[in-house]
Amino acid sequence: MSEVRVRFAPSPTGYLHVGSARTALYNWLYARHLKGTFILRVEDTDAERSNVDSVRTILEGMTWMGLNWDEGPEIGGAYGPYFQSERKALYKDAADRLVAMGRAYWCDCTADELEAKKQQALAEKRTYRYDRTCLRLTEEERASRAAEPGRTRALRFKVEPGESGWDDLVKGRLDFDNANFDDFVIFRSSGLPIYNFACVVDDSAMKISHVIRGDDHVSNTPRQIMLYRAMGLAVPAFGHLPMILGSDGQKLSKRHGATAVGDYGAMGYLPGAMRNFLALLGWSFDGEHEIFGADELIEKFSLERVNTSPAIFNLDKLYWMNGEYMKALPLAERTRLVREQLVAGGQWNPQSPPEREALLERIVESLGERLKLTTQFIEYADCFLQDELELSDTTLDALAARPKAMEIMEKLEALLRDFPDFTVVGLEPPVRQLAADLGVKAGDVINVARGALTGKKVGPGIFDVMVLVGRDKCTRRLQAAQAALRSRVSA
Ligand code: GLU
Repeated sequence: MSEVRVRFAPSPTGYLHVGSARTALYNWLYARHLKGTFILRVEDTDAERSNVDSVRTILEGMTWMGLNWDEGPEIGGAYGPYFQSERKALYKDAADRLVAMGRAYWCDCTADELEAKKQQALAEKRTYRYDRTCLRLTEEERASRAAEPGRTRALRFKVEPGESGWDDLVKGRLDFDNANFDDFVIFRSSGLPIYNFACVVDDSAMKISHVIRGDDHVSNTPRQIMLYRAMGLAVPAFGHLPMILGSDGQKLSKRHGATAVGDYGAMGYLPGAMRNFLALLGWSFDGEHEIFGADELIEKFSLERVNTSPAIFNLDKLYWMNGEYMKALPLAERTRLVREQLVAGGQWNPQSPPEREALLERIVESLGERLKLTTQFIEYADCFLQDELELSDTTLDALAARPKAMEIMEKLEALLRDFPDFTVVGLEPPVRQLAADLGVKAGDVINVARGALTGKKVGPGIFDVMVLVGRDKCTRRLQAAQAALRSRVSA
């Protein structure tokens, strides 16, 4: 088998969409599995819509997901440049060749003229096809039209009878009769190639062996095959990936959650989880296993196992999967990621003393599997880092609703102030005894303690909470909670 060369060819008109990221990932996996080459090509011929920020965002998104490219922006390669805007001469040459061969011709019909013909076809219930007016012009007619104001030229590819089907690597045989296509525009007089044309010129020049892309491009493929054949170029293999839909079966949009890969990092997701999750959007191994590290994905990936039906983007699954990845990380690494996020958010002083760094690790440890996203640290644990705790009305209401809340806090405060064995294991028996002595459930004491010490409903186990808050702050917080409740009763 000749060398496998695949490419991801984003148009830099926005962020890296999760659908595009999945396309990039499948190309990367395919290349890595077959020890081929993964190329990144930026399709930026549309100067109005393309921008450098978007290029940066796309490259960052790919880097974040660990999708390294072997040829492309920043690193170059033997088939560059890898920005289409720098390859215009190649498109011009190819266009000239097609004209010389009689397979392309200039058309200067105006948009109004074409629209009128379309309307006429509609009225006559005919399928509209360009009627090749410009193919039939004499030299004189051509010259006189060129002198008319308002005409611009575009190069049309001359479609010949035949068929342009292919054996799709995902969908199986797809057949298209050329009769269904009219002479499509491939190049503008401004020097800008149309996507189908630039794509074929580049895929051929870059020796792409397999084109793997979303199935929204299926209707482009017959046109591209016609172009390859007209230019006498080898046609690559094609594989079209199923769409990704939202949970309601509609096209994936922001309604279903963030659609920019970059947002997920900021939301506390891990790149490995994202990669694993995207890999399963349209591909499965045995329908049973779901957690695959990068090496395993590379080893197991094949286009044969890509589904033909659309994939559903299930955010709950991504959340679950991220939890699995978090759980599997060593404590030091989990802490490092949380810390990195806190520092980025200005919530952690990178020069913190070692005791405070150790506290951070202990908090992360005590949160255990509750920490499904790195960002949840703040949600669960800011109370351990603060000196003073401001209890919300909701927390105070919940405290007030517990039987004997005041007595519990009073007794607990006394207990914690003096109890010698201030450890997770040491504190449990006396706290449970306290509940028994007061004739309340252990749950009542635990909930009151949690509310007063953390201001939250969930978090680490309560004895972990006590140790993390520490003896002094525990007593102060219990006093403050009692005072707050008292002042509410008297108000
Ligand atoms: N620039 C095209 C896109 O982003 C590439 C399509 C292709 O892979 O051929 O949709």
